[in-house]
Amino acid sequence: MREPDALEHARDLSHANTMALPCIAERFWCAQDSASVAAALRLANANDWPLTVLGGGSNLLLPARLAGLTLVPELPDITFAPGEGESVVVEVGAGVSWHALVTACVERGLWGIENLALIPGLAGAAPIQNIGAYGVELSDVLLWVEFVDRRDGQCHRLASTACGLGYRDSIFKRELANQVVITRLALRLSRRAHPQLGYGVLAERVSKSPGLEEIFSAICAIRREKLPDPRELPNAGSFFKNPVVSASSAAQLTQRYPELPCYPQPDGRVKLAAGWLIERCGLKGWRQGAFGIHARQALVLVHFGGGDLAELLAFSAAIAERVHATFGVTLVREPRQVHEADS
Ligand SMILES: Cc1cc2nc3c(=O)[nH]c(=O)nc-3n(C[C@H](O)[C@H](O)[C@H](O)COP(=O)(O)OP(=O)(O)OC[C@H]3O[C@@H](n4cnc5c(N)ncnc54)[C@H](O)[C@@H]3O)c2cc1C
Repeated sequence: MREPDALEHARDLSHANTMALPCIAERFWCAQDSASVAAALRLANANDWPLTVLGGGSNLLLPARLAGLTLVPELPDITFAPGEGESVVVEVGAGVSWHALVTACVERGLWGIENLALIPGLAGAAPIQNIGAYGVELSDVLLWVEFVDRRDGQCHRLASTACGLGYRDSIFKRELANQVVITRLALRLSRRAHPQLGYGVLAERVSKSPGLEEIFSAICAIRREKLPDPRELPNAGSFFKNPVVSASSAAQLTQRYPELPCYPQPDGRVKLAAGWLIERCGLKGWRQGAFGIHARQALVLVHFGGGDLAELLAFSAAIAERVHATFGVTLVREPRQVHEADS
C-alpha cells in the first residue's frame, strides 16, 4: 500500500528541540488540521507504532533515535468572539506560537495572558503542564481544550474544570498521557484591566497603574535578562519544578535557613524555590562535560554541545542528589522524556 504523502522518514529533530539533543525521528508527520491528525493516529494504531507529539520542543527531552511516529499538530488560526460582559473568547489552533498568541491578544487590548509572554513553544502544549509565570497560570483563563483521542479517533472537547490543572500539571500528563493530540483551545480574556503584579520584581519594573503593553514589555525585558536564549545557549527553561513540601517541613527548613524563599499554597503546603536550593549547594555555574548549570539562573541547565540524553540525565540526577543530601528535599524534573507519564 502507498504511504501517505504527509509521512516522512528519518527526520532530524536536533534543531527541533531547544535543548539541542541529537535526535532522528523514525517517522514524522506534520498535520495541518484535525482530519490529518486523525489519519496519522489511524496509521500509528494500524502499525502499533508508539506516538510522540511534538510542539516547539521546549519542554521535551529527546532520545537519539525516536521510534514510531512523531506528529506535529500545526493547526493555525486565532479567532476572537465577544463573550459575556467585557469578556472575549479567543480560540487558537495547536500550531500557533504561544508568544504570537500573547502578542495578538495584547495588540487587541485583551487582558489575561500578558504575564505569560515569551514562554516558548506552541499553544497546543500550553495545557499539558498548565504553563505559568509571574503569578498567572493558563488555568486562570482556559475555557476548554479540544483533542483527538488515539483510542477512538474522535474529536473531544474537555472543559477546563475537567482538565485537572495544577502547578505544572494536568490530566494530559497523567490519565490522558500519550493518548491524545490537542488540536485547539479556547481562552476567556477581558477588555477590563486587571494587572497581576504580585510576583517577583514585576511591580518594581512598571508604573503605579500600568497599561497592558507596559506589563507585556516589562515581562519580555525581565525574561530576556534572566533566561538564556535557547538559540544561543540550548536549554529547556526551568529544569526542575519548584518543590511543594508540608508546612512542618518548610518550618524546619526555615529554622536552619531563614532566607529560604517560601510561597504558602492554598492547600496549606509550601512551595520552595528550586533555584535557591541548587544555588545554596554551591552548584550555580557548575559544568560537567557537555552540560552545565547556567551562571545566572541556577534552575536552568544548558547544553554546550556534543552531549546526549543519557549524559544530561546523569548530570541532572547528580544535582538532585546534592539537593536531597543537603536539604532532604526531592527535586522533580520539569521537561518530559518521550512516552513518560506522571503517576
Ligand atoms: C527558555 C525557556 C523558558 C521557559 N519558561 C517557561 C515558563 O515561564 N513557564 C512555563 O510553564 N514553561 C516554561 N518553559 C517550558 C515550555 O516552554 C512550556 O512547557 C511550553 O508549553 C512547551 O511547549 P512546546 O510546544 O515546546 O512543547 P513540547 O516541548 O514540544 O512538548 C511538551 C510536552 O507536551 C506534549 N505535547 C506538545 N504538544 C502537544 C499537543 N498538541 N497535544 C498533546 N501533547 C502535546 C509533548 O508530547 C510533550 O510531552 C520554558 C522553556 C524554555 C526553553
